[in-house]
Amino acid sequence: MSDYIDCHYARSRVDQTQRPYLDGTIAAGTVVVGGGLAGLTIALELARGGHSVVLLEGRRIGWGASGRNGGFCAPGYALGYDRIAHIAGEESARELLDLSRDGVDYVANNLAAFGNKVDTRHRGHISARRIPARGDLERYRDKMAALGVALRVQGIEETRALLKSPLYFESIVEPTCFAMQPLDYALAMAREIERLGGKVFENSPALSTGRFGASHLAATPRGKVSAHHLVICTGGYTGRLIPALRRAMLPIATYAMASEANDALLDGAIATPMCVSDDRRAGDYYRRATDGRLIWGGRITARTRDPADFAALLRQDMIEVYPQLATLRIDSAWSGLMAYARHYMPQVGKLDEGLWYCTAFGGHGLNTTAAAGGLIASAIAEGDDRYRLFEPFGLAWNGGPLGPAAAQLTYWKLQLQDWWAERGVAQKNVGTARG
Ligand SMILES: Cc1cc2nc3c(=O)[nH]c(=O)nc-3n(C[C@H](O)[C@H](O)[C@H](O)COP(=O)(O)OP(=O)(O)OC[C@H]3O[C@@H](n4cnc5c(N)ncnc54)[C@H](O)[C@@H]3O)c2cc1C
Repeated sequence: MSDYIDCHYARSRVDQTQRPYLDGTIAAGTVVVGGGLAGLTIALELARGGHSVVLLEGRRIGWGASGRNGGFCAPGYALGYDRIAHIAGEESARELLDLSRDGVDYVANNLAAFGNKVDTRHRGHISARRIPARGDLERYRDKMAALGVALRVQGIEETRALLKSPLYFESIVEPTCFAMQPLDYALAMAREIERLGGKVFENSPALSTGRFGASHLAATPRGKVSAHHLVICTGGYTGRLIPALRRAMLPIATYAMASEANDALLDGAIATPMCVSDDRRAGDYYRRATDGRLIWGGRITARTRDPADFAALLRQDMIEVYPQLATLRIDSAWSGLMAYARHYMPQVGKLDEGLWYCTAFGGHGLNTTAAAGGLIASAIAEGDDRYRLFEPFGLAWNGGPLGPAAAQLTYWKLQLQDWWAERGVAQKNVGTARG
């Protein structure tokens, strides 16, 4: 039997429920494969609409990226607005942007319904520059204002008053983002699905799928589900169940750690409850959790095995930004797999009558699983075809065996570009200091 990996969220989760595995044959309106936030959202929305639904999770609820992430729930996608508009057209890009913002509200509303209301004082996301912005942020703010998105620019002094590091320059604040304990959220969703009559099975990997007349079948080691609709939500852990999906995504590993609770030390470095990230192509992101810890994430690798020293690398990244945190003890560090499509957008759609997929949310999955999951649920329940907004971002080939190497090289190239840009700034600063 699988259990959670050892990480801060598994240690601090409030719900210890162990769910049964599927034993025998059952029928349902919909069977969802994958108990991350995508699958849970679809199952929950179907259950809320009174539809019969079974969710099969191969390990534990939220065992994948959904129970291991940084916990930032922010609008947008892994792909920037301009690229989305370039591929899908301006009108669809606006709709997708609105959808991504609705995704943030959806999660906040669920949290409130589960008795864990988002504290408005903790809302906001600071994106800080590691090289001077020279008016870029004001231009970006004005462009997004025309799309109805209100952002606020902070000058260098204001930024450094909150983030006490000389590595930061200006910053831009997005006010609706909030942070959460993602595994607790996933577990609360599972409880709600069950309360509404849905069935949730753990340690029940779908090993094969097939069609029998108008029904789809999903077979697990000890059972079978037959259903009118089958939805695949297996994220970065997508195996060979549906080869077309495996060929269209790259599993990318990323890393996070949680410190000891130490408000006194953290006050001298990060004087804000907001989520923080930097503007680098391959940047750091972090936040102060309400229990006094620092959650810090960053780095990616396209290798399937973790580098042995990733915890030390993350700690080094943290101390480079905040040398004052050198004595902060790190309590746990972990990795997780994100699913990336080559176009960086979610893969959401229909492979065959009644056979759906909702996956590839990359590093921006907390709001987008909610947005896309809601669309798939309403496609199943009501024939709503808004899921087609994602059609321009199809199941592009992942590059086969060369895909991971290409992704790793791209990441190293981006890191190098960041290093080069910041080196220029550091040299100028030394020059200015020498006078
Ligand atoms: C370290 C880290 C930090 C991140 N930080 C953020 C963040 O701060 N903000 C943000 O928005 N996003 C973040 N992300 C990304 C976000 O977590 C993901 O995009 C999102 O959780 C994906 O959800 P999912 O349901 O698609 O996949 P997952 O949560 O990975 O769920 C897929 C599930 O499918 C199951 N599964 C696979 N195959 C089968 C099978 N055959 N049968 C049954 N079950 C199966 C797996 O066991 C897994 O539980 C981060 C990700 C990581 C790894």
